[in-house]
Amino acid sequence: MADEQVSRGERKDSSGELHREEPALANGLTAHQKSAGESLAQRIKRIVLGNLLVILTVSAVITGVIIGLAVRTAELNQTQIIYFGFPGELLVRLLKMIIIPLVVCSLVSGAASIDPRALGKLGGWAMLFFLVTTLISSAIGVIMALIIRPGSSESGQSKIAAQGDDIPEAKEVVDSFLDLIRNIFPSNLVAAAFQSVPSGKDVDGMNILGLIVFAMAFGVALRKLGEEGEILMKFFNSFNEATMVLVSWIMWYAPLGIMFLVAAKIVEMEDVGELFASLGKYIACCMIGHAVHGLLILPLIYFVITRKNPYTFLLGLITALATAFGTSSSSATLPLMMKCVEENNGVSKHISRFILPIGATVNMDGAACFQCVAAVFIAQLNQIPLNFVQIITILVTATASSVGAAGIPAGGVLTLAIILEAVGLPTHDISLILAVDWLVDRTCTVINVEGDAFGAGLLQHFVDRTSEKEGVELSEVRLGEEDVLSKPERSPLMERPLEVEVAGPRPSEKESIM
Ligand code: ASP
Repeated sequence: MADEQVSRGERKDSSGELHREEPALANGLTAHQKSAGESLAQRIKRIVLGNLLVILTVSAVITGVIIGLAVRTAELNQTQIIYFGFPGELLVRLLKMIIIPLVVCSLVSGAASIDPRALGKLGGWAMLFFLVTTLISSAIGVIMALIIRPGSSESGQSKIAAQGDDIPEAKEVVDSFLDLIRNIFPSNLVAAAFQSVPSGKDVDGMNILGLIVFAMAFGVALRKLGEEGEILMKFFNSFNEATMVLVSWIMWYAPLGIMFLVAAKIVEMEDVGELFASLGKYIACCMIGHAVHGLLILPLIYFVITRKNPYTFLLGLITALATAFGTSSSSATLPLMMKCVEENNGVSKHISRFILPIGATVNMDGAACFQCVAAVFIAQLNQIPLNFVQIITILVTATASSVGAAGIPAGGVLTLAIILEAVGLPTHDISLILAVDWLVDRTCTVINVEGDAFGAGLLQHFVDRTSEKEGVELSEVRLGEEDVLSKPERSPLMERPLEVEVAGPRPSEKESIM
């Protein structure tokens, strides 16, 4: 089916070579089809159907704002707000439910199906990209805060009620890093599914970092087993595929959930006017920083390396970006992000399912940026001048602490104390950051997940280039055509053709990836 082929993001020419299509074509329009005499109504219908989910998601955000503003006047009590926000809460629950099977299965099957040398190379490039972009984002944060100076002047910090109870405990920088390493090596795998180690002892909260490390090591070990490991590899592949089908169903619920998440937040907001009057400059600083990084820097890096249009790439991510905005959680956005990059941006499953879970956990450009703004802001509030060494310390610790931040709402604020401790700034002012974090965290999460997606796009480019140079049709991390291509997602109400698509190596293909 022509449409299907296009939305899978790839085509094969007569020589059998694979070419990636421009992502915009994922909307169902091909140059060929455009020229085929089609009535305007038919064309509009096809475009609308091809982009239904994007249209629904964007409308959901706008409608959510309108409904929120309208319902706000009704002055609901706390219980009524909970009822009102229930459809949104449901979306977050559904997405969270899928995280553990998704992360574990995709990484086990990903690591098992890629040659360890290629895995190391891919991982190395991804880490380099993540590190460089996070450092750039931190630098943008510092520069913004030094230019706008949100903490100097009469910024009315006292107007904002301190939220003393929520302030994370300050702890030694070295302890923070030991905890990060403790999380990497969970003492109990089952417990890691619901406990992490933020302060020397286990507390509630999923330890995704630990699960990621175990799943990857397990995948590599499975591959070592050779034939003996194949049954288990198939098991994880099927588990992974079935999980992605669940994700595709959840995806169609996302617009409704996002609408209510946004609306409920607007309804329960405190007096926004006062918030902006006191901390407006800080909010602006973070948001401008996020916009510069997300709309200029990341697209520029992508363009310079791939020579492809980065905004078309971004367009393919709209549903995932709106989910990040609505949920403030990179982890909860992960399932939809995988779908988007695979189906709209032509990233192969092996790349997306290997790199996105890692990115969602360790790569947080948005968090690093806002943490730098927050650190400089707090220094300015307390009239503590920062010297060059302290600024470099902020950059480095923000980059490191963003790795330790969990992909959950306010995950970044929890690790902010590490930076403040490192440069000797008071931690009590974190209450101010917390007061507006519900807002800043949204753009922050959008940038966090955008960075992961660009990382996946660049790795795909790297793999394509390598395979071209080495004269092989498919690179070492690709296993076969059907393996690389993702099916476009339709409404679960539409019928799906009965085709079975299995990711990962089949026994006959295993050798080709060595
Ligand atoms: N909410 C962010 C995320 O999930 C983490 C943060 O607070 O910076 O990516």
